[in-house]
Formats: sequence, structure tokens, C-alpha cells
Amino acid sequence: MTILESVALGKDRENNKVISKSSYDTKEGKITDKYLTVCPSCNIVWEKVHWRNKILIEYYHEIPRYGKRKEICPECSEKVISKVG
Ligand SMILES: [Zn+2]
Repeated sequence: MTILESVALGKDRENNKVISKSSYDTKEGKITDKYLTVCPSCNIVWEKVHWRNKILIEYYHEIPRYGKRKEICPECSEKVISKVG
């Protein structure tokens, strides 16, 4: 069977289902803060994510920065600390 034939038979839709299911599971396991934050230092939108007793930082490069809360991201605050130290 060629790729085109498998697409025509809806095989690619099956794959998409698997992908969307796994991303749904990921959301289930993560508790995100309800707001995104903009770092005024590096100008990146970031978010704290609590996941299985860990705190992860997720960075979003393609989200509009308008109207977001401003807070220095952990990466920049580490830089500041290392400069001082
Ligand atoms: Zn930053």
C-alpha cells in the first residue's frame, strides 16, 4: 500500500486521533497557572507548570505579549543572581 492509498483510506486520521489523545493525557497530568507571564528582560511569554511534584517552566515564542502579567522569568532571575554572586 502506498502512502497516498493509506491517506485515502483514513489511516492518517487514525494517527491524528492517537496524537490528540496523548496530548489530552498530558494536559490531565499538568496543572498550569491560569495566566501567562511576560518576562520584561528577555521578552518571552512563559508559564509555570506543576507536573508530578515538579515545577516546569514552559516558554511560548509565538504568543502575543499584549496584556500579560510582567515578571522576570526564572532563567533571567538566575542570570541576575549569578551576576551579583
Ligand atoms: Zn527572561
